[in-house]
Amino acid sequence: MTVTTRFAPSPTGRLHVGNIRTALHNWLLARQAGGRFLLRIDDTDRERSREEFVEAIREDLAWLGLHPDGEQRQSSHFETYENAFRQLVSSGQVYPCYETPQELDLMRKVLLGRGLPPIYDRGALKLTAEERAAKEAAGETPHWRFRLDHDSPIEWTDGIRGAQHFDPGQLSDPVIRRADGSWLYMLPSVIDDIAMGVTNVLRGEDHVSNTATQIQMFHALGAEPPRFAHEALLVGTEGKLSKRLGSLGVADFRDAGIEPAALVALLARLGTSDPVDPSLDADALASAFDLSRFGRAPARFDEAELERLNASVVHDLTYADVAERLPEGMGEAGWEAIRPNLSHVGEAGEWWQVVTGPIEQPDFDEEIRTYLSQAAERLAGQEWGDDPWHTLTGALKETTGRKGKALFMPLRQALTGRDHGPDMAALLPLIGKEEALERLHGASSR
Ligand code: GLU
Repeated sequence: MTVTTRFAPSPTGRLHVGNIRTALHNWLLARQAGGRFLLRIDDTDRERSREEFVEAIREDLAWLGLHPDGEQRQSSHFETYENAFRQLVSSGQVYPCYETPQELDLMRKVLLGRGLPPIYDRGALKLTAEERAAKEAAGETPHWRFRLDHDSPIEWTDGIRGAQHFDPGQLSDPVIRRADGSWLYMLPSVIDDIAMGVTNVLRGEDHVSNTATQIQMFHALGAEPPRFAHEALLVGTEGKLSKRLGSLGVADFRDAGIEPAALVALLARLGTSDPVDPSLDADALASAFDLSRFGRAPARFDEAELERLNASVVHDLTYADVAERLPEGMGEAGWEAIRPNLSHVGEAGEWWQVVTGPIEQPDFDEEIRTYLSQAAERLAGQEWGDDPWHTLTGALKETTGRKGKALFMPLRQALTGRDHGPDMAALLPLIGKEEALERLHGASSR
């Protein structure tokens, strides 16, 4: 059977870092097995679902390089849900309930007050046909619950959490449909997972109790449940998912100059004790992906780590990778020279400006001005060659007796306006002889 995974976001907002991680892991799981990764837009909630978020989800996945092998939309499956619903109602596995939210709330409070678990008492199952008819006649429309089979203990081997066991008698029959006919997430998801041939459901541990009841829904619909795995939730370095981190999405990362490869490298391994390795490409990450490496402790998302990874990803990007994001005129030699100094591709412009000028030089004292004018003289007379920097500094070392910082720093400051930056040997050829001479003259005569 082809491994088929799915990512099933509700288009009620942008994807955040936790969703992105779930999407990535489903993608890796499918890719590793040569299977399919499907996108399912869970848009049964017509009020809250918005087309712009559907677009944004597609764009975000594309930016990350997670291309789905197919896309489905729940809003085009209503007829299928209706059919399955009718089937389950006629077999008695789905039943109508008439309690108002206030009544349910009161029942919960009473049970909790007695120290009992707030499990729905199945009062609606005790109604006679006449009582139901009377309610309907009085204009009461029911909501609908799935009747859990109390005689079938729920068990599965979770890909991350190991053996799981739930007593269905300790769970409330889940509401699957509201009185206005709209669907809750539980049943449509199962119907679609069956129809889409989903073999592996990998999602956050906030879905563990949903899985317990959904397993019985798979059986009620005559299907074998898929394999389930539930990942520990993501937390920030401060120990919980802060509001900021909880809403951090692709657009924020992109605007902050984070490369998709850095985010993918980090999220692929976050929650395992395997080292994060930014040099691994998607295939290498996929072949090494292993759910059994994931722990049950919350996975810590560290933005500082992401920044470090980003720098090392940037240092490996080729000119072809970034050409269209570079400033006008900056060629391959420019990229090669400047790349080691960048944490973000977007900083290239700042350094390119150092090459093309104008730059702002510091004021030098007289002794240094003399040195800089010696340098200008020397440079003017020198064969430019392949490595003008080493030719220049080699000669100045001999004639002036300067060495180390005293030799290099005034030159760097005069030529770039800065105390640090890319290797001068790479930078000077880019600045060019004429401009370099102008900068040295300028600095020595001020
Ligand atoms: N739409 C559901 C959610 O976003 C999908 C959960 C699932 O993966 O089944 O929570």
